[in-house]
Order: sequence, then C-alpha cells, then structure tokens
Amino acid sequence: MNNKHPASGFSTRAIHHGYDPKDHHGALVPPIYLSATFAFPTAEYGAACFAGEASGHFYTRISNPTLAVLESRMASLENGEAAVAFSSGMGAIAATFWTLLRPGDEIIVSQTLYGCTFALLHHGIGEFGIQVRHVDLTDLAALQAALSPATRMIYCETPANPNLRLIDIAAVAELAHRQPNITLVVDNTYCTPYLQRPLELGADVVVHSATKYLSGHGDITAGIAVSSHALAQRIRLQGLKDLTGAVMSPQDASLLMRGLKTLALRMDRHCSSAQAVAEALQAHPTVQWVTYPGLRSFPQYELAKRQMKLPGGMIAFELKGGIEMGRRFMNALRLFTRAVSLGDAESLAQHPASMTHSTYTPEERAQHGISEGLVRLSVGLEDVADLLADVHQALAKCSRPSVRRAATAAHVLR
Ligand SMILES: *Cc1c(COP(=O)(O)O)cnc(C)c1O
Repeated sequence: MNNKHPASGFSTRAIHHGYDPKDHHGALVPPIYLSATFAFPTAEYGAACFAGEASGHFYTRISNPTLAVLESRMASLENGEAAVAFSSGMGAIAATFWTLLRPGDEIIVSQTLYGCTFALLHHGIGEFGIQVRHVDLTDLAALQAALSPATRMIYCETPANPNLRLIDIAAVAELAHRQPNITLVVDNTYCTPYLQRPLELGADVVVHSATKYLSGHGDITAGIAVSSHALAQRIRLQGLKDLTGAVMSPQDASLLMRGLKTLALRMDRHCSSAQAVAEALQAHPTVQWVTYPGLRSFPQYELAKRQMKLPGGMIAFELKGGIEMGRRFMNALRLFTRAVSLGDAESLAQHPASMTHSTYTPEERAQHGISEGLVRLSVGLEDVADLLADVHQALAKCSRPSVRRAATAAHVLR
C-alpha cells in the first residue's frame, strides 16, 4: 500500500495514510469498491490466492481495496502493524475472542465493561468452556494472584464504560507478559488513538467500536481490531472470515475515513466542552458526585494525565435523589438528546442501568461499580455556552421539590 507520509503527524496520516490519488485515476477521495468478488486472471492465480501464496483481493468478506485503505490508516494511527475492519464493535470483539480463546482457557477481564461485552462473556464464550474471571485490574496484586497457566487473555476498557475507571495499561502489560501466551486486549473506544495508544504501552490488540468517536457522526456501526501482522491475519482468517462474518461494507469504510479526517479537531472540542460541563456539574448543589478524568477530584487524576493526552468527552454523574432525579434531569434536557451511543456531534444523555448496561442484573451492577443513579453524558460539538445553558436549566428543575410538578400536572388536568 502506497505510503507517502510515513513519519507525518497524526492528522496528516488520518487524512492521507495508505492512499495515493495517482493509483486511482486522480480521485482525491478513496473510491468505494462495490464488489463482492474479484476476477482471477487465471485459475492458477485463484488457487494461489486461496492458498495464501498470492496477494490480492478475492472476496470482500476477506478483503476489499476500500477496506484496505481504512485498515492501513487505522493501523498507522494506533501505531500497530495491521488492522481488521468489522461491521460493528461487537463484531471486532467477538472475532477477537473466538479467534484467540479455546475451551479450557481463562480470560481475565476488568470489573466494568460495556453491557454487550459483558453479555458476550457471560452468555456467549462463558457457556462454551471458557472461564471468565473479573478482576480489579487497578490492583496489581489481585491480578498477579488471578493469573494461572490457563490464562490466555486479559481484556479491559480504559476509561471503562460507563463509570470511567482507568486501568494502567503499561503496568498490566508488564505483569501479563511475564507469562508466555497471554494476549492483552484493550478496548480503546472512549479515547481513540488521538488520546491514547495502548499498543505503545504494551497491549497486543486494540479493539474499537468505530461507531463512536472514530466515525463521529452517528451514521454507521463499525468496528476495528489493530495488532501485529500475525495476530491480525489470524483474526481476519478465523474471527472475521469463518467465525463471525462481521464484515464492514465498503460504503461504511468510506464514511469512517471521512470521519477520521477530523478526528483530532473533534476530540479537542469534545474534551474542552466536557471539561466545562463536568466543572459546572461539580459546582452544582444538586449533584451528588461527578466522575470525569479532567477533574482534580477524579480518583485516578495522575494516571489520566500520564496515560491520556486529554480527558475525553464522556462524563458520569449522579444527582442527589438518585435515578428518580436523574430521570427528571434527562427529561428536562432540551439540547442534549436522550439516546445511547456516544462520540457523535450531537450531545447525548442516557441511563446505563436501564439502557446500555441492563444486560447486568442489579446485583451484578452493584458488584461491578455501576450505580443505579448514574447518568452518562456524551458531550458533543455544539457551542459550549448552549450546552452549559441546557445543563443548568435541567439541573434547576431538579432542585425544586417534586410537589411542584404534581401541582402543575393537576393544573393541566383541570
Ligand atoms: C459501543 C461500544 C461497544 C460496542 O460497539 P458497537 O459498534 O455498538 O457494536 C464496545 N465497547 C465500548 C466501550 C462501546 O462503547
């Protein structure tokens, strides 16, 4: 793959890496190759492709020229050797698990995970003879004690969805790699490679829901896995080709590449606006607690500064009065949209316990640090003054006694 900009900066690579218009009739933007299959010049060449002896595209579930540009670009941004594109984040995660784990193996996972990843572990691979163990990965002694000869993978999100707990990737990688045959997989969805590059810190595989910040516009579902050439090839030929078939469409690859062009600009704005919203929440008397890696009160503030370029665009908080008040806050929002997902231009608010993390039982949520009153905000790209005004007017409705709302309702009924 052509690469005129090997040593360039992040945004230059996000815009140019792996593509030269000269190779495509001068087309500035990588063409969308809408073809499921590719013609073989001879029967022998086709056989060589299938034997892995000739390079070249032969079927889009395995590779496609549009997907290949995206994959080389994502590998460059994460500072990995190779990437594999998927139709969703869950596609990337499932393909990575199914490729690298076998019955009898153990996977150690952090306490808090995205709801569907939790479900995939406990209702998917956990029921096929793979032992799933949750360990507090901020406690290295606990990790050390949990490691066994059967441990094949350590998996975490940092920051975790939805409570924003961080894992020290370098410290976990150091411990993991004292033992052979352990693959450290990090879900980098919340940060993107602009804020954090787990492979540079010792992780072996990075997975993404590219549905979120990477595409950035809420118009596709997509996933990515980045690793060494050898691991990527295994994930492609087993996890993608045979075990999940979760192939990304070439149109979606084009939309994702469009999103990547502005990734750095968007992340800078998400982070500065989220900082302002988090500070406003923290200063408000109706707020019980607020968790944001850019606040000095954040328990892992020093780790956040060391591991992440900026604190991200996601906030978790709880109001005094718990989820009843949290629902009132969400229903009062006018600019923030009540919706799951994250990383879009539009600011979003959701309630993990009843939405994205309802795959956990209430007992499991309590055990895994997801409080019932937690409200999750994805701070978008609107004017920060408008976002602050919306949060303030919604908070104001939460400070008034609830009798007032009952009185209004009675009035309307009359
Ligand atoms: C959304 C999300 C996923 C799942 O990705 P999809 O694209 O929705 O399949 C995985 N991990 C995290 C942290 C997420 O936020």
